[in-house]
Amino acid sequence: MTARVLVVDDLEPNVKLLEAKLRAEYFDVLAAYSGAEAIDIARREQPDIILLDVMMPLMDGFEACRRLKASPETMHIPIVMVTALDQQADRIAGLEAGADDFLTKPVEDIALFARVRSLSRLKMMTDELRARYATGKGLGVVDNIELNAQINACRLFVIDDNEDQVERIKAAVEPAGHLVAHERDADDAIDRARGEEVDLFIVNLSMEDADPLRLCSSIRSMEETRLTPILAVVRQGDTRKLVRALEIGVNDYLTRPVDRNELTARVATQLRRKSYVDQLRSSFQASLEMAVTDQLTGLYNRRYLASHMSAMFDRARWSGRPLSVMILDIDHFKQINDNHGHDVGDKVIQQFAGRISNAVRGIDLACRYGGEEFLIAMPDTEMSFATVVAERLRQEIAADKFAGDDAGRELEITVSIGLASTENGPDEDSPQKLIKRADDALYVAKTGGRNRVIKSAA
Ligand code: GH3
Ligand code: MG
Ligand code: MG
Repeated sequence: MTARVLVVDDLEPNVKLLEAKLRAEYFDVLAAYSGAEAIDIARREQPDIILLDVMMPLMDGFEACRRLKASPETMHIPIVMVTALDQQADRIAGLEAGADDFLTKPVEDIALFARVRSLSRLKMMTDELRARYATGKGLGVVDNIELNAQINACRLFVIDDNEDQVERIKAAVEPAGHLVAHERDADDAIDRARGEEVDLFIVNLSMEDADPLRLCSSIRSMEETRLTPILAVVRQGDTRKLVRALEIGVNDYLTRPVDRNELTARVATQLRRKSYVDQLRSSFQASLEMAVTDQLTGLYNRRYLASHMSAMFDRARWSGRPLSVMILDIDHFKQINDNHGHDVGDKVIQQFAGRISNAVRGIDLACRYGGEEFLIAMPDTEMSFATVVAERLRQEIAADKFAGDDAGRELEITVSIGLASTENGPDEDSPQKLIKRADDALYVAKTGGRNRVIKSAA
């Protein structure tokens, strides 16, 4: 996997050094020599990752980071702060400015590549979700999502056999309102993770009686935890293990002894990212549902019918099983609007849709075909059976009155239904032709006096 990396440093030799290392590993490299230039290039070129020097004249790295993270055009690009001083204060200031990680100069190769790869993996996923989200937003159906939303009361799962360390972790994160579960045995932890909602795993990579890398890889591969972030705690100098962990998909790490401020900052970063991805995912889901659902009735809409019907039709032809279609149109519906108002009309449509939903099977496709017109496609259904369903529905609608206005007056409704099946009729080559035949049958039902079921002529 490759990525475009923007390297930012006021000193040319520093830029050249990082550039050479990254190029050798086939990354695409862009360079900027000041904070302002970095912001400009990031906006224009949309790199996948930014490596940002802290100490720069005019605008230092923290300020550049804050501005990049504040702008909607660049806020999604991961930033790694590169600090000359191995100082906790700088690291924490960087994370507080919104940085996603930091590296210490001189930059170690393994840490550099592991970092860049891990962040570009994450970015690929969020890019995909962002693109879908943008589509959803275009449809005007999803709310705005905040990357920096306040995070609290999350569920953290610490897997660690070192009791002192567990206590230190608890003492650091519990004041933020997070709930901490703890397990010292890796197998027990896996069992528990399957059944519980977890927002973040914190795994000690130096556990004695377990294989922590196997544990991390299990967390990554299980359906329930596939996307849950993992924060690893690693012994100083355990670089090989750390690199393996990052390759497996561990999201971030801390070195022992765990610094309290760094821990809270990194926990917050992971939880913020997870919440962002979760929100993108669920609003995409919602926008998908809204795109295929009729708002008034909750039935599928015509757009969905168009795409799904051809799949149903192909399956029917391929399997040689009949597919039946009925179109239902409420009789004299205009009079209901005229006599009782549009709102009552809407309520009738909703009740009508509810009765249709109750009458069909799970594999049937019921959709709102037009204003007061509905279509039900029934796979694996012969004309004779479709006729029974249609007739039962017609009788039930005519017999059981509909709730009307607020005064409690009930309304008598009748429906006309047209039926067609691949079983009777010509060997059609498209669902449109099948629907057309059902529509023609409906027309006959209307002209014949309404409140009746008419089968398409064979
Ligand atoms: P027919 O028996 O021939 O079907 O007569 P009809 O009055 O039901 O048919 P027509 O197609 O003339 O009128 C349908 C009416 O349905 C007209 C339109 O205003 C109304 N309508 C369409 N969509 C909605 C809706 O979402 N809500 C309400 N309240 N009325 C709707
Ligand atoms: Mg009508
Ligand atoms: Mg109509």
